[in-house]
Amino acid sequence: MSQWFDIFQKQHPYQIEALVHPLLVYKKLRVLVLREDQNHPEIPGNKFWKLKYNLKQAMTERQDTLLSFGGAYSNHILALAQAGQLLGLKTIGVIRGEPHDELNPILLKAVAAGMTLDYLSRSDYRLKHTEAITEALIAKHGRCFIVPEGGSNALAVKGTSEILPRINEPFDVVCAAVGTGGTLAGLIQSLQPRQQAIGFSVLKGGGFLQEEVASWLTPKAPSEKQWQLQLDYHFGGYAKVKPELLNFITQFHSDHRIPIEPVYTGKLFFGLFDLIEKDYFSPGQTILAIHTGGVHS
Ligand SMILES: *Cc1c(COP(=O)(O)O)cnc(C)c1O
Repeated sequence: MSQWFDIFQKQHPYQIEALVHPLLVYKKLRVLVLREDQNHPEIPGNKFWKLKYNLKQAMTERQDTLLSFGGAYSNHILALAQAGQLLGLKTIGVIRGEPHDELNPILLKAVAAGMTLDYLSRSDYRLKHTEAITEALIAKHGRCFIVPEGGSNALAVKGTSEILPRINEPFDVVCAAVGTGGTLAGLIQSLQPRQQAIGFSVLKGGGFLQEEVASWLTPKAPSEKQWQLQLDYHFGGYAKVKPELLNFITQFHSDHRIPIEPVYTGKLFFGLFDLIEKDYFSPGQTILAIHTGGVHS
């Protein structure tokens, strides 16, 4: 447990950058970027917070193996591999689809961190959380602590609800990209009475996320008046891109020297700037955008 404490419980300094842009001057808005992409050298981004209490639970149960699920480009799978390596736990990544002869850079890094990869056909993958598939995986790999796909569960939300309370800068609206919604749920959970949260869905047809996010909130959480989802900035769906998005990402990097990527943070900042142009925010407001990571060098 001492390693867990060293990694997760000590105070990590946070970094906030204020964006400088003529549009923000014109609209009288401040945009602060919380650089959670730099929160930990080996387990960066929101996955640090999502894994925090899942790993504590695994250690408490004296589990020696972690198993989770993801697509071939899953940041969650890579974070699990790297966290497992730091904590001295074995890791198994169950990947959707057929194995390829050559691993992509994310899976290469996961294997380099000691992860064992397994694969499920797309039809079996849909059933991954059923007892039949879970039992087959345990029969094959032995007793293990199973973290759900994308890492979202109540323990993940407990972790992500610690992102905001350590920030001293006042803000009115917090914005984040949404995949499964576990990160947004934690942000909502920790809002102050006059603050708002906006989640930008990176999935097409993200309407289901409203209920999904609500299901992770405790009865004490702020009401739905304090948070909402933006569903129109998915660019065709998960990991889908359009030239407009890619151009925005290039421009954003040259304007601000902050790297963003097309799957999550590119869609967040594109959506945020579009809302700013459309006068969605009131003059004088401060917007805190969470850089959740995902940029692989
Ligand atoms: C996983 C991930 C997200 C999505 O987080 P959820 O809790 O699943 O909504 C956002 N940004 C980045 C960079 C991610 O890797």
